[in-house]
Amino acid sequence: MSNAYEELKPFLERAQAFQTAKILFEWDNETLAPRMAEPNTTKVVGTLSGEYFSVVTDRRVKELVKRCQKEEGLTEVERAVVRELAEEIEKLECIPPKEYREFAELTARSTGIWARARKDNDFDSFAPILKEIVEYTKKFASYRAGEGQKLYDVMLDDFEKGFDTETLDRFFGTLKEQLVPFLKKLTDSGVEIDNRFLTGDYKKEDQEAAGRFFAEYVGFDFDRGVMAVSAHPFTTNLHNKDVRITTSYNDHVDDSLFSVIHESGHGIYELGIPDELTQTLVGQGTSMGMHESQSRFFENIIGRNEAFWVPVYGKLQERFPKQLGHIAVEQFVKAINKVEPSLIRTQADELTYSLHVLIRYEIEKMLIGEDLPVEKLPKIWADKYEEYLGVRPENVSDGVLQDIHWSQGSFGYFPSYALGSAFGAQLYMYMRKKMDFEGLLRKGDIRTIREFLRENIHQYGKLKTSRQILKDITGEDFNPQYYIDYLVEKYGKLYGI
Ligand code: ZN
Repeated sequence: MSNAYEELKPFLERAQAFQTAKILFEWDNETLAPRMAEPNTTKVVGTLSGEYFSVVTDRRVKELVKRCQKEEGLTEVERAVVRELAEEIEKLECIPPKEYREFAELTARSTGIWARARKDNDFDSFAPILKEIVEYTKKFASYRAGEGQKLYDVMLDDFEKGFDTETLDRFFGTLKEQLVPFLKKLTDSGVEIDNRFLTGDYKKEDQEAAGRFFAEYVGFDFDRGVMAVSAHPFTTNLHNKDVRITTSYNDHVDDSLFSVIHESGHGIYELGIPDELTQTLVGQGTSMGMHESQSRFFENIIGRNEAFWVPVYGKLQERFPKQLGHIAVEQFVKAINKVEPSLIRTQADELTYSLHVLIRYEIEKMLIGEDLPVEKLPKIWADKYEEYLGVRPENVSDGVLQDIHWSQGSFGYFPSYALGSAFGAQLYMYMRKKMDFEGLLRKGDIRTIREFLRENIHQYGKLKTSRQILKDITGEDFNPQYYIDYLVEKYGKLYGI
């Protein structure tokens, strides 16, 4: 047993408590809190963040971390906690407090400016503050960049350890080379899929009941989780006995249905964290990309799989007899997989989704690495949409202003969305060789699949990186070709091309 680690524990517990409280307030702001609460609650959240900062960067904590790094007797989990803590301290401390505050104020203002600009379809009113944000983000990355390391690589590493522009160029290059022509072939095929029946008078209460059923069916545990309504669906993780998902309802029944299955995937990951890790610095999913891999695995690879619907489509028909009673399961499965190149990323289908991300990746590289002036963004954005997806935004609201990320200073975040899909596909192609994947779905046995994911991914929390996890499971490094093969096989069959 390590004495230094024992001494560190109460500090870690305090930091964790501040963090948990902060997350709970953030959840509450998006779901239940009254509209007027925000300014006052923001102050509370600010104080909690400050307290977290002072615990983590406490002089005593830093001494103890140094001692722990030298000690031999630490367990694997303790070593990992110390590693995460050291990284957290470095991240928090490398930025001068004055600049940190300025940046926090800047981004607090800019999300409002962005939201108005998007509403008014006015890029020029957002451009000046975006320029400032880009400058700050680059400066902050430069504080942490190693010798000769690209600034964009520093940002990418924050979201996905071990993934740099070199790996991502290869990944997105493969997508561009193979998916863009495949999509063209598919849209030129003239095959029309009718999905109009997914839109209509789907009552909110019925959608909620269906959502709950499917969340539970795929394995979201309502004794350790809850589901609420928010403007945009998301998952909040307090610890492995309290994981919260949200959804929203409109007249497209598939929107809420698949967002619930998606968020359940995120939730199941967090519920699979063992007691030994939860409420520690390594007690969460390992990365953004691996998290998306799990949510997309549940949403697409399981949820949009024809075999998945064989045992449960009848349940959905019973819930919506008027809308779906006359629709055969084959027709339903085609409709939920319809490919439609569109302008908006969050509404994209499974096939075109990663092309939306490819565009953002190429643009971020130019913004951060090649000093692209922000004024040029709207045109570059539109040109790339036309080139890769065959659609051109008529206005900036449906174009470059659609995502909140840049206004929050999040650069390097987008690639993890596409990486997640690719991780998931690599896992699926491997699992198919080891188990009768579709056979299990047809029997309604999600458990075997979920247990595989828990045993090989969820139970490790942050003890392994996403890349290590992939390697340990499949015996192979990250390989984007599986993702392409998966998509070409699935959509080739659906569209008969
Ligand atoms: Zn997600």
